[in-house]
Amino acid sequence: MKIIDAHTHLPGWSFGSRPRPIRELRRAFEDEGLAGAWLFTTDGLLGEPARNNDILAEAVAEHRDFFAPFCTVNPLDGTDAAIRELDRCKSKLGMRGLKLHPWVQAFSMMHPAVEPVLAHAGNLGFPVIFHDGTPPYTSSLQIAALAEKAPQTTIILGHAGLDDLYEDAILACRRHPNIYLCLCSTSGGYSEQIIRHCPVERLLFGSDGGFMPNLIKLAIAKLHETDAPASVLRKIFYDNPQRLLPLPA
Ligand SMILES: [Zn+2]
Repeated sequence: MKIIDAHTHLPGWSFGSRPRPIRELRRAFEDEGLAGAWLFTTDGLLGEPARNNDILAEAVAEHRDFFAPFCTVNPLDGTDAAIRELDRCKSKLGMRGLKLHPWVQAFSMMHPAVEPVLAHAGNLGFPVIFHDGTPPYTSSLQIAALAEKAPQTTIILGHAGLDDLYEDAILACRRHPNIYLCLCSTSGGYSEQIIRHCPVERLLFGSDGGFMPNLIKLAIAKLHETDAPASVLRKIFYDNPQRLLPLPA
């Protein structure tokens, strides 16, 4: 079964990772079972988003057939600056989506810059993936409240609520047609609940791969251990991410 991972990070100097050559990272991802990966910055979530967007774009330049790079911006820099950076990431760097991490980037979903940033990302055709599941800044329903205000933007809850908020994530997904859930670090039993209760077309697979070895392999095994039939897993692993952001087959 072909697998695209919708939640991976370019290893950097933070969160216990270490920089690795992109060729080596790709080989490791392929060895763990991937046909492609959406790749986010790690260091850029802690600061200097523009510089780290450049680093990510340069890293994947020769590997666009495998990696779909996602930029980041910080709404705390203000609406104009964030939107300027989004435009630059689309036109100059060829980024394909936006990653936001309200917890680590330390902004509230109610900050006035968040809504225009989400709307603008939607105009650019960027899906927006959020870290979610860790209150206070990243509860699934806080993000859902903004998803309602940017109905043309695809919003992905990057951890499907984690263990504490997976029920909120299910509610958000059922209520808002533009919300997708990424099963990343979500427990196996809760993943089963999510698969059972959400539209399967809006579920994605993710692993947080890049932080340490074998995360991808373990995350794949976890989903295979659920009671979801192969036809459903095929959508989660491949058809859905490929529909949202096509990578060369
Ligand atoms: Zn992550």
